Amino acid sequence: MPSIACKCGNRISWSLIPNPIETLAFPDTERVSYSSVIASGKLYEQTTSIMECDECSRLVIFWDGFKHNPVFYKKEK
Ligand SMILES: [Zn+2]
Repeated sequence: MPSIACKCGNRISWSLIPNPIETLAFPDTERVSYSSVIASGKLYEQTTSIMECDECSRLVIFWDGFKHNPVFYKKEK
C-alpha cells in the first residue's frame, strides 16, 4: 500500500481510488493545449497530487510525482 509518513506521524496513503484526501491540480498554462474534449488519462498525466493529512491538516504536495519526495505545508492558524 503506497503511503508516506506525515510530519505529525500519521500515515498518508494514496492507495484508494478515488482518494478522499487527494486533490488533483492542473496547471492553467497547460489548459490552452487541450481541445474542449479531454481524455481523463491524458489529463491525469498533467496533474499534481495534493493530499491533506487528516490528523494535522498539513498539505502534502507531490510536485515532481510520486517517485520524488513531496513538500509538506503546514496551515497557518
Ligand atoms: Zn499530519
